[in-house]
Amino acid sequence: QGATVQKFAELLGVAPNDVIKRLFMLGQVLTLTQSMSDDLIELISDDMGRKVRVVNPEEEYAVVYNDSEEDLKPRPPVVTVMGHVDHGKTSLLDAIRETGVAEREAGGITQAIGASVVDLNGRQVTFIDTPGHEAFTAMRARGASITDVVVLVVAADDGVMPQTVEAINHAKAADVPIVVAVNKIDKPGATPDRVRQELTEYGIIPEEWGGKNMFVDVSAKKRLHIDDLLETILLQADVLELKANPNADASGYVIESKLDKGRGPVATVLVARGTLHPGDTVVAGTSYGRVRALIDPRGEHRDEAYPADPVEILGLNSVATAGDEFRVFEDERDARKLAEERALRKRLKQQEASHMSLDDLFNRIEEGKTTDLNLVVKADVDGSIEALRGAFDKMDQSEVKINIIHAAVGGITETDVTLAAASDAIIIGFNVRPMGKSKQMAEKEKVDIRLYRVIYQAIEDINAARVGLLSPDI
Ligand code: GDP
Repeated sequence: QGATVQKFAELLGVAPNDVIKRLFMLGQVLTLTQSMSDDLIELISDDMGRKVRVVNPEEEYAVVYNDSEEDLKPRPPVVTVMGHVDHGKTSLLDAIRETGVAEREAGGITQAIGASVVDLNGRQVTFIDTPGHEAFTAMRARGASITDVVVLVVAADDGVMPQTVEAINHAKAADVPIVVAVNKIDKPGATPDRVRQELTEYGIIPEEWGGKNMFVDVSAKKRLHIDDLLETILLQADVLELKANPNADASGYVIESKLDKGRGPVATVLVARGTLHPGDTVVAGTSYGRVRALIDPRGEHRDEAYPADPVEILGLNSVATAGDEFRVFEDERDARKLAEERALRKRLKQQEASHMSLDDLFNRIEEGKTTDLNLVVKADVDGSIEALRGAFDKMDQSEVKINIIHAAVGGITETDVTLAAASDAIIIGFNVRPMGKSKQMAEKEKVDIRLYRVIYQAIEDINAARVGLLSPDI
Protein backbone atom coordinates (compact mmCIF):
# COMPACT_ATOMS: atom_id res chain seq x y z
CA GLN A 1 0.00 0.00 0.00
CA GLY A 2 1.39 3.37 -1.07
CA ALA A 3 0.39 6.71 0.37
CA THR A 4 -2.64 8.95 0.31
CA VAL A 5 -2.89 11.53 -2.46
CA GLN A 6 -2.28 14.26 0.07
CA LYS A 7 0.82 12.65 1.51
CA PHE A 8 2.19 11.83 -1.90
CA ALA A 9 1.78 15.46 -2.98
CA GLU A 10 3.48 16.58 0.22
CA LEU A 11 6.38 14.24 -0.38
CA LEU A 12 6.96 15.50 -3.87
CA GLY A 13 6.28 19.08 -2.93
CA VAL A 14 3.56 19.50 -5.55
CA ALA A 15 -0.02 20.75 -5.40
CA PRO A 16 -2.46 18.01 -4.38
CA ASN A 17 -4.90 19.24 -7.01
CA ASP A 18 -2.34 18.65 -9.71
CA VAL A 19 -2.00 15.06 -8.57
CA ILE A 20 -5.77 14.59 -8.53
CA LYS A 21 -6.01 16.02 -12.04
CA ARG A 22 -3.35 13.71 -13.40
CA LEU A 23 -4.96 10.77 -11.68
CA PHE A 24 -8.27 11.74 -13.22
CA MET A 25 -6.69 11.77 -16.67
CA LEU A 26 -5.55 8.24 -16.04
CA GLY A 27 -9.10 7.32 -15.26
CA GLN A 28 -8.54 7.22 -11.51
CA VAL A 29 -10.95 9.20 -9.42
CA LEU A 30 -9.34 9.64 -6.04
CA THR A 31 -9.86 12.10 -3.22
CA LEU A 32 -7.18 13.65 -1.04
CA THR A 33 -7.39 11.07 1.67
CA GLN A 34 -7.55 8.00 -0.54
CA SER A 35 -4.53 5.81 -1.02
CA MET A 36 -2.52 5.49 -4.21
CA SER A 37 -1.02 2.14 -5.05
CA ASP A 38 2.71 1.75 -5.62
CA ASP A 39 2.05 1.47 -9.34
CA LEU A 40 0.09 4.70 -9.40
CA ILE A 41 2.80 6.44 -7.42
CA GLU A 42 5.37 5.42 -10.00
CA LEU A 43 3.13 6.37 -12.91
CA ILE A 44 2.22 9.77 -11.59
CA SER A 45 5.77 10.57 -10.53
CA ASP A 46 6.94 9.67 -13.99
CA ASP A 47 4.17 11.76 -15.47
CA MET A 48 5.40 14.72 -13.42
CA GLY A 49 8.95 14.27 -14.60
CA ARG A 50 10.11 12.75 -11.33
CA LYS A 51 12.05 9.56 -11.31
CA VAL A 52 10.52 7.95 -8.31
CA ARG A 53 10.51 4.23 -8.18
CA VAL A 54 8.83 2.50 -5.34
CA VAL A 55 10.50 -0.85 -5.35
CA ASN A 56 11.66 -3.04 -2.59
CA PRO A 57 15.33 -2.22 -2.70
CA GLU A 58 16.19 -5.35 -0.83
CA GLU A 59 14.84 -7.33 -3.73
CA GLU A 60 16.40 -5.37 -6.54
CA TYR A 61 19.81 -5.23 -4.96
CA ALA A 62 19.67 -8.46 -3.06
CA VAL A 63 23.10 -9.93 -2.65
CA VAL A 64 24.02 -13.42 -1.67
CA TYR A 65 27.22 -13.72 0.24
CA ASN A 66 28.42 -17.01 -1.03
CA ASP A 67 31.86 -17.64 0.41
CA SER A 68 33.67 -20.91 -0.06
CA GLU A 69 35.60 -22.55 2.78
CA GLU A 70 38.92 -21.25 1.39
CA ASP A 71 37.59 -17.70 1.31
CA LEU A 72 36.85 -17.74 5.02
CA LYS A 73 39.56 -16.55 7.38
CA PRO A 74 39.48 -16.36 11.19
CA ARG A 75 38.25 -13.03 12.52
CA PRO A 76 38.20 -11.38 15.96
CA PRO A 77 35.16 -11.68 18.21
CA VAL A 78 32.72 -8.83 18.81
CA VAL A 79 31.60 -8.52 22.42
CA THR A 80 28.78 -6.71 24.23
CA VAL A 81 28.78 -6.18 28.00
CA MET A 82 25.47 -6.57 29.79
CA GLY A 83 24.22 -6.74 33.35
CA HIS A 84 22.18 -5.08 36.06
CA VAL A 85 22.58 -1.36 36.64
CA ASP A 86 25.53 -0.49 38.90
CA HIS A 87 27.03 -3.95 38.67
CA GLY A 88 30.01 -2.40 36.88
CA LYS A 89 29.50 -2.61 33.11
CA THR A 90 31.03 0.78 32.42
CA SER A 91 33.86 0.28 34.88
CA LEU A 92 34.64 -3.07 33.33
CA LEU A 93 34.76 -1.62 29.83
CA ASP A 94 37.10 1.08 31.12
CA ALA A 95 39.33 -1.49 32.80
CA ILE A 96 39.40 -3.61 29.66
CA ARG A 97 40.30 -0.66 27.47
CA GLU A 98 43.17 0.26 29.75
CA THR A 99 44.47 -3.27 29.94
CA GLY A 100 44.26 -3.87 26.25
CA VAL A 101 46.05 -0.76 25.13
CA ALA A 102 49.46 -1.64 23.70
CA GLU A 103 52.58 -0.12 25.23
CA ARG A 104 53.22 2.48 22.58
CA GLU A 105 49.70 3.79 22.93
CA ALA A 106 49.59 3.85 26.70
CA GLY A 107 48.52 7.28 27.77
CA GLY A 108 47.21 7.97 24.30
CA ILE A 109 43.67 9.11 23.91
CA THR A 110 41.10 6.58 22.84
CA GLN A 111 38.43 8.12 20.66
CA ALA A 112 34.87 7.40 21.69
CA ILE A 113 33.46 6.09 18.43
CA GLY A 114 30.98 3.51 19.71
CA ALA A 115 33.29 0.54 19.82
CA SER A 116 36.78 -0.19 21.07
CA VAL A 117 39.43 -2.59 20.04
CA VAL A 118 41.56 -4.39 22.58
CA ASP A 119 44.70 -6.33 21.91
CA LEU A 120 45.77 -9.35 23.93
CA ASN A 121 49.05 -10.97 22.87
CA GLY A 122 48.46 -9.96 19.31
CA ARG A 123 44.85 -11.07 19.22
CA GLN A 124 42.05 -8.60 18.79
CA VAL A 125 38.78 -8.35 20.68
CA THR A 126 36.21 -5.77 19.61
CA PHE A 127 33.92 -4.31 22.26
CA ILE A 128 30.70 -2.49 21.58
CA ASP A 129 30.83 0.56 23.85
CA THR A 130 27.14 0.82 24.62
CA PRO A 131 26.54 -1.67 27.39
CA GLY A 132 23.17 -3.17 28.18
CA HIS A 133 20.55 -5.30 26.52
CA GLU A 134 18.34 -2.42 25.34
CA ALA A 135 20.83 -1.23 22.74
CA PHE A 136 21.72 -4.82 21.88
CA THR A 137 18.10 -5.72 21.19
CA ALA A 138 17.33 -2.45 19.42
CA MET A 139 20.15 -3.24 16.99
CA ARG A 140 18.97 -6.80 16.62
CA ALA A 141 15.45 -5.62 15.89
CA ARG A 142 16.93 -3.76 12.92
CA GLY A 143 18.61 -6.90 11.70
CA ALA A 144 22.07 -6.13 13.02
CA SER A 145 23.13 -9.21 14.93
CA ILE A 146 26.74 -8.30 15.41
CA THR A 147 27.59 -9.63 18.86
CA ASP A 148 29.42 -12.95 19.06
CA VAL A 149 29.87 -13.10 22.82
CA VAL A 150 27.98 -11.49 25.69
CA VAL A 151 29.88 -10.68 28.86
CA LEU A 152 27.36 -10.79 31.67
CA VAL A 153 28.49 -8.68 34.60
CA VAL A 154 27.12 -9.72 37.99
CA ALA A 155 28.22 -7.95 41.14
CA ALA A 156 29.44 -10.48 43.68
CA ASP A 157 27.94 -8.53 46.57
CA ASP A 158 24.52 -8.14 44.97
CA GLY A 159 23.90 -11.30 42.98
CA VAL A 160 21.33 -11.92 40.28
CA MET A 161 18.97 -8.97 39.86
CA PRO A 162 16.04 -8.26 37.50
CA GLN A 163 18.17 -6.78 34.71
CA THR A 164 20.59 -9.68 35.04
CA VAL A 165 17.72 -11.97 34.15
CA GLU A 166 16.63 -9.67 31.32
CA ALA A 167 20.16 -9.66 29.93
CA ILE A 168 20.28 -13.46 30.07
CA ASN A 169 16.99 -13.68 28.20
CA HIS A 170 18.04 -11.20 25.56
CA ALA A 171 21.34 -13.03 24.99
CA LYS A 172 19.54 -16.36 24.84
CA ALA A 173 16.98 -15.02 22.39
CA ALA A 174 19.86 -14.00 20.16
CA ASP A 175 21.60 -17.33 20.66
CA VAL A 176 24.79 -15.64 21.79
CA PRO A 177 27.05 -17.45 24.30
CA ILE A 178 27.46 -15.87 27.72
CA VAL A 179 30.73 -15.42 29.56
CA VAL A 180 30.07 -14.39 33.15
CA ALA A 181 32.23 -11.76 34.80
CA VAL A 182 31.60 -11.93 38.53
CA ASN A 183 32.58 -8.38 39.45
CA LYS A 184 33.45 -6.49 42.64
CA ILE A 185 35.27 -9.44 44.22
CA ASP A 186 37.37 -6.86 46.09
CA LYS A 187 34.35 -6.00 48.22
CA PRO A 188 34.12 -7.46 51.72
CA GLY A 189 30.64 -8.89 51.20
CA ALA A 190 31.52 -10.56 47.90
CA THR A 191 30.25 -14.12 47.48
CA PRO A 192 31.14 -15.23 43.93
CA ASP A 193 29.98 -18.78 44.54
CA ARG A 194 26.54 -17.58 45.51
CA VAL A 195 26.36 -15.80 42.14
CA ARG A 196 27.24 -19.09 40.41
CA GLN A 197 24.57 -20.86 42.44
CA GLU A 198 21.91 -18.25 41.65
CA LEU A 199 22.68 -18.30 37.94
CA THR A 200 22.10 -22.05 37.66
CA GLU A 201 18.42 -21.27 38.07
CA TYR A 202 18.57 -19.48 34.72
CA GLY A 203 20.47 -22.22 32.95
CA ILE A 204 23.83 -20.48 33.26
CA ILE A 205 26.08 -23.22 34.64
CA PRO A 206 29.85 -22.94 35.13
CA GLU A 207 32.08 -25.31 33.17
CA GLU A 208 33.65 -26.50 36.39
CA TRP A 209 30.19 -27.64 37.47
CA GLY A 210 29.62 -29.49 34.23
CA GLY A 211 27.88 -26.65 32.42
CA LYS A 212 28.94 -24.74 29.36
CA ASN A 213 29.46 -21.21 30.65
CA MET A 214 32.86 -19.76 31.41
CA PHE A 215 33.13 -17.69 34.56
CA VAL A 216 35.82 -15.24 35.62
CA ASP A 217 35.96 -13.46 38.97
CA VAL A 218 37.10 -9.88 38.46
CA SER A 219 37.34 -6.49 40.03
CA ALA A 220 36.89 -3.70 37.54
CA LYS A 221 37.83 -1.19 40.18
CA LYS A 222 41.04 -2.87 41.36
CA ARG A 223 41.81 -4.14 37.84
CA LEU A 224 41.90 -7.74 39.04
CA HIS A 225 41.88 -10.63 36.52
CA ILE A 226 40.97 -8.45 33.56
CA ASP A 227 43.56 -10.32 31.49
CA ASP A 228 41.91 -13.60 32.48
CA LEU A 229 38.58 -12.28 31.31
CA LEU A 230 40.02 -11.29 27.93
CA GLU A 231 41.65 -14.68 27.57
CA THR A 232 38.39 -16.37 28.44
CA ILE A 233 36.57 -14.32 25.82
CA LEU A 234 39.15 -15.45 23.26
CA LEU A 235 38.70 -19.06 24.39
CA GLN A 236 34.96 -18.72 23.91
CA ALA A 237 35.61 -17.18 20.50
CA ASP A 238 37.84 -20.13 19.55
CA VAL A 239 34.96 -22.47 20.25
CA LEU A 240 32.80 -20.45 17.89
CA GLU A 241 35.40 -20.61 15.09
CA LEU A 242 34.48 -17.14 13.90
CA LYS A 243 35.31 -16.60 10.27
CA ALA A 244 34.67 -14.11 7.51
CA ASN A 245 35.77 -13.50 3.96
CA PRO A 246 38.13 -10.51 3.99
CA ASN A 247 38.62 -10.50 0.21
CA ALA A 248 35.33 -9.02 -0.89
CA ASP A 249 33.56 -5.69 -1.14
CA ALA A 250 32.93 -4.65 2.43
CA SER A 251 29.59 -4.89 4.18
CA GLY A 252 28.50 -4.66 7.79
CA TYR A 253 26.49 -2.51 10.14
CA VAL A 254 26.32 1.04 11.42
CA ILE A 255 26.78 1.03 15.19
CA GLU A 256 26.81 4.75 15.82
CA SER A 257 26.16 7.86 13.82
CA LYS A 258 26.32 11.58 14.36
CA LEU A 259 26.61 14.94 12.68
CA ASP A 260 30.00 16.41 13.45
CA LYS A 261 30.36 20.17 13.14
CA GLY A 262 33.64 20.09 11.30
CA ARG A 263 33.52 16.71 9.62
CA GLY A 264 29.89 16.39 8.57
CA PRO A 265 27.98 13.11 8.90
CA VAL A 266 30.12 10.53 10.66
CA ALA A 267 29.10 6.89 10.94
CA THR A 268 30.90 4.24 12.93
CA VAL A 269 30.54 0.95 11.15
CA LEU A 270 31.53 -2.53 12.07
CA VAL A 271 32.84 -4.45 9.10
CA ALA A 272 31.27 -7.91 8.97
CA ARG A 273 32.67 -9.09 5.66
CA GLY A 274 35.22 -7.91 3.16
CA THR A 275 37.69 -5.06 3.40
CA LEU A 276 36.73 -1.41 3.45
CA HIS A 277 38.97 1.24 1.90
CA PRO A 278 38.94 5.00 1.58
CA GLY A 279 37.52 5.82 -1.83
CA ASP A 280 34.93 3.05 -1.67
CA THR A 281 31.36 4.00 -2.49
CA VAL A 282 29.02 2.89 0.27
CA VAL A 283 25.33 2.84 1.06
CA ALA A 284 24.40 2.83 4.73
CA GLY A 285 20.65 2.64 5.16
CA THR A 286 19.39 5.77 3.43
CA SER A 287 22.82 7.45 3.31
CA TYR A 288 25.46 7.07 0.66
CA GLY A 289 28.75 8.54 -0.37
CA ARG A 290 32.38 7.96 -1.13
CA VAL A 291 34.50 7.13 1.88
CA ARG A 292 36.73 10.14 2.42
CA ALA A 293 38.55 8.71 5.41
CA LEU A 294 38.52 5.72 7.74
CA ILE A 295 39.42 6.41 11.36
CA ASP A 296 39.92 3.71 13.97
CA PRO A 297 39.13 3.90 17.72
CA ARG A 298 42.65 5.12 18.36
CA GLY A 299 42.06 8.10 16.16
CA GLU A 300 44.35 6.85 13.42
CA HIS A 301 43.61 7.00 9.72
CA ARG A 302 43.38 3.60 8.14
CA ASP A 303 43.82 2.36 4.60
CA GLU A 304 41.87 -0.79 5.32
CA ALA A 305 39.27 -2.04 7.75
CA TYR A 306 38.80 -5.79 8.09
CA PRO A 307 36.03 -7.99 9.50
CA ALA A 308 35.27 -7.12 13.17
CA ASP A 309 37.04 -3.75 12.83
CA PRO A 310 35.06 -0.74 13.94
CA VAL A 311 35.87 2.41 11.97
CA GLU A 312 34.46 5.83 11.49
CA ILE A 313 33.46 6.60 7.93
CA LEU A 314 33.65 10.18 6.71
CA GLY A 315 32.03 11.19 3.47
CA LEU A 316 28.40 10.06 3.76
CA ASN A 317 25.77 12.51 2.56
CA SER A 318 23.58 12.21 5.65
CA VAL A 319 23.46 10.78 9.14
CA ALA A 320 22.84 7.05 9.05
CA THR A 321 20.90 5.16 11.70
CA ALA A 322 22.47 2.74 14.16
CA GLY A 323 21.60 -0.78 13.08
CA ASP A 324 21.52 0.10 9.37
CA GLU A 325 23.32 -2.25 7.04
CA PHE A 326 26.14 -0.77 4.98
CA ARG A 327 27.51 -2.11 1.77
CA VAL A 328 30.13 -1.14 -0.79
CA PHE A 329 28.86 -0.50 -4.30
CA GLU A 330 30.85 -0.65 -7.50
CA ASP A 331 28.71 1.96 -9.16
CA GLU A 332 28.06 5.28 -7.50
CA ARG A 333 24.80 5.73 -9.38
CA ASP A 334 23.46 2.42 -8.06
CA ALA A 335 24.44 3.49 -4.56
CA ARG A 336 22.65 6.76 -4.90
CA LYS A 337 19.60 5.12 -6.39
CA LEU A 338 19.33 2.58 -3.63
CA ALA A 339 19.79 5.19 -0.90
CA GLU A 340 17.17 7.47 -2.42
CA GLU A 341 14.69 4.70 -2.94
CA ARG A 342 15.16 3.59 0.63
CA ALA A 343 14.65 7.15 1.83
CA LEU A 344 11.42 7.50 -0.11
CA ARG A 345 10.19 4.14 1.04
CA LYS A 346 10.98 5.04 4.60
CA ARG A 347 9.12 8.33 4.35
CA LEU A 348 6.11 6.67 2.80
CA LYS A 349 6.18 4.08 5.53
CA GLN A 350 6.43 6.69 8.25
CA GLN A 351 3.49 8.55 6.77
CA GLU A 352 1.53 5.36 6.63
CA ALA A 353 2.55 4.41 10.10
CA SER A 354 1.54 7.71 11.57
CA HIS A 355 -0.56 7.18 14.61
CA MET A 356 -4.25 7.56 15.02
CA SER A 357 -5.58 11.08 14.91
CA LEU A 358 -9.10 12.25 15.46
CA ASP A 359 -9.07 13.68 11.94
CA ASP A 360 -8.58 10.35 10.28
CA LEU A 361 -10.63 8.24 12.66
CA PHE A 362 -13.50 8.21 10.21
CA ASN A 363 -11.27 7.18 7.29
CA ARG A 364 -9.83 4.41 9.32
CA ILE A 365 -13.28 3.17 10.23
CA GLU A 366 -14.38 3.39 6.59
CA GLU A 367 -11.33 1.47 5.43
CA GLY A 368 -12.04 -1.12 8.08
CA LYS A 369 -8.69 -0.38 9.68
CA THR A 370 -10.02 0.25 13.13
CA THR A 371 -12.94 -0.27 15.42
CA ASP A 372 -11.22 1.12 18.49
CA LEU A 373 -10.45 4.59 19.69
CA ASN A 374 -7.76 4.46 22.35
CA LEU A 375 -7.40 7.47 24.59
CA VAL A 376 -4.89 8.74 27.09
CA VAL A 377 -6.67 11.29 29.26
CA LYS A 378 -4.91 13.92 31.35
CA ALA A 379 -6.83 16.49 33.38
CA ASP A 380 -6.38 19.10 36.08
CA VAL A 381 -8.90 17.43 38.35
CA ASP A 382 -10.25 13.93 38.88
CA GLY A 383 -13.78 15.18 38.31
CA SER A 384 -13.14 15.82 34.61
CA ILE A 385 -11.89 12.29 34.09
CA GLU A 386 -14.93 10.83 35.81
CA ALA A 387 -17.28 13.08 33.84
CA LEU A 388 -15.67 11.95 30.60
CA ARG A 389 -15.94 8.30 31.54
CA GLY A 390 -19.60 8.82 32.34
CA ALA A 391 -20.24 10.49 29.00
CA PHE A 392 -18.52 7.70 27.07
CA ASP A 393 -20.55 5.09 28.88
CA LYS A 394 -23.68 6.70 27.52
CA MET A 395 -22.36 6.85 23.95
CA ASP A 396 -23.28 4.38 21.26
CA GLN A 397 -20.14 2.33 20.88
CA SER A 398 -21.39 -0.23 18.41
CA GLU A 399 -19.13 1.06 15.64
CA VAL A 400 -16.23 2.49 17.56
CA LYS A 401 -15.23 1.21 20.90
CA ILE A 402 -13.71 3.86 23.13
CA ASN A 403 -10.95 2.67 25.44
CA ILE A 404 -9.37 4.89 28.04
CA ILE A 405 -6.03 3.16 28.35
CA HIS A 406 -4.59 5.58 30.86
CA ALA A 407 -6.11 8.47 32.79
CA ALA A 408 -4.48 10.63 35.42
CA VAL A 409 -4.38 14.08 36.90
CA GLY A 410 -1.49 16.22 35.68
CA GLY A 411 0.16 17.65 32.58
CA ILE A 412 0.98 15.64 29.46
CA THR A 413 4.37 13.99 29.83
CA GLU A 414 6.79 12.28 27.48
CA THR A 415 5.80 8.97 29.02
CA ASP A 416 2.19 9.68 28.05
CA VAL A 417 3.33 10.25 24.47
CA THR A 418 5.37 7.03 24.44
CA LEU A 419 2.38 5.13 25.75
CA ALA A 420 0.07 6.72 23.18
CA ALA A 421 2.50 5.98 20.36
CA ALA A 422 2.87 2.37 21.40
CA SER A 423 -0.89 1.93 21.72
CA ASP A 424 -1.98 4.05 18.75
CA ALA A 425 -3.89 6.32 21.09
CA ILE A 426 -4.96 9.95 21.06
CA ILE A 427 -4.11 12.15 24.02
CA ILE A 428 -6.85 14.31 25.43
CA GLY A 429 -6.01 17.08 27.88
CA PHE A 430 -8.45 19.09 30.00
CA ASN A 431 -7.04 22.35 31.28
CA VAL A 432 -3.55 20.90 31.11
CA ARG A 433 -0.64 21.45 28.73
CA PRO A 434 2.10 19.31 27.29
CA MET A 435 5.10 19.48 29.58
CA GLY A 436 8.82 19.36 28.86
CA LYS A 437 9.57 17.97 25.43
CA SER A 438 6.32 16.04 25.13
CA LYS A 439 4.95 18.37 22.45
CA GLN A 440 7.95 17.99 20.13
CA MET A 441 7.96 14.29 20.81
CA ALA A 442 4.29 13.99 19.89
CA GLU A 443 4.95 15.86 16.66
CA LYS A 444 7.80 13.55 15.82
CA GLU A 445 5.88 10.42 16.74
CA LYS A 446 2.77 11.78 15.05
CA VAL A 447 0.69 11.39 18.15
CA ASP A 448 -2.47 13.54 18.16
CA ILE A 449 -2.81 15.72 21.27
CA ARG A 450 -6.17 17.43 21.76
CA LEU A 451 -6.53 20.12 24.38
CA TYR A 452 -9.92 21.14 25.77
CA ARG A 453 -11.31 23.47 28.39
CA VAL A 454 -14.71 21.84 28.71
CA ILE A 455 -15.93 18.27 28.53
CA TYR A 456 -18.72 18.73 26.06
CA GLN A 457 -16.32 20.02 23.41
CA ALA A 458 -14.29 16.86 23.64
CA ILE A 459 -17.41 14.74 23.43
CA GLU A 460 -18.64 16.74 20.45
CA ASP A 461 -15.32 16.33 18.64
CA ILE A 462 -15.24 12.62 19.20
CA ASN A 463 -18.83 12.26 18.05
CA ALA A 464 -18.11 14.31 14.94
CA ALA A 465 -14.94 12.37 14.19
CA ARG A 466 -16.78 9.09 14.34
CA VAL A 467 -18.98 10.09 11.45
CA GLY A 468 -16.34 11.98 9.49
CA LEU A 469 -17.72 15.41 10.26
CA LEU A 470 -14.91 16.82 12.33
CA SER A 471 -14.05 20.29 11.13
CA PRO A 472 -10.38 20.64 10.36
CA ASP A 473 -8.20 21.33 13.34
CA ILE A 474 -6.81 24.84 13.04
P1 GDP B 1 27.08 0.09 35.42
O1 GDP B 1 25.84 0.82 35.80
O2 GDP B 1 26.85 -1.38 35.32
O3 GDP B 1 27.77 0.63 34.19
O4 GDP B 1 28.09 0.24 36.66
P2 GDP B 1 29.32 1.23 36.86
O5 GDP B 1 30.49 0.77 36.09
O6 GDP B 1 28.87 2.62 36.65
O7 GDP B 1 29.65 0.96 38.38
C1 GDP B 1 28.71 1.24 39.40
C2 GDP B 1 29.44 1.49 40.71
O8 GDP B 1 30.13 0.32 41.13
C3 GDP B 1 30.48 2.58 40.59
O9 GDP B 1 30.43 3.34 41.76
C4 GDP B 1 31.78 1.84 40.49
O10 GDP B 1 32.87 2.55 41.02
C5 GDP B 1 31.49 0.60 41.32
N1 GDP B 1 32.29 -0.55 40.91
C6 GDP B 1 32.39 -1.04 39.65
N2 GDP B 1 33.21 -2.10 39.63
C7 GDP B 1 33.63 -2.28 40.89
C8 GDP B 1 34.51 -3.22 41.52
O11 GDP B 1 35.09 -4.12 40.89
N3 GDP B 1 34.69 -3.10 42.85
C9 GDP B 1 34.09 -2.13 43.59
N4 GDP B 1 34.33 -2.09 44.88
N5 GDP B 1 33.27 -1.24 43.03
C10 GDP B 1 33.05 -1.29 41.71
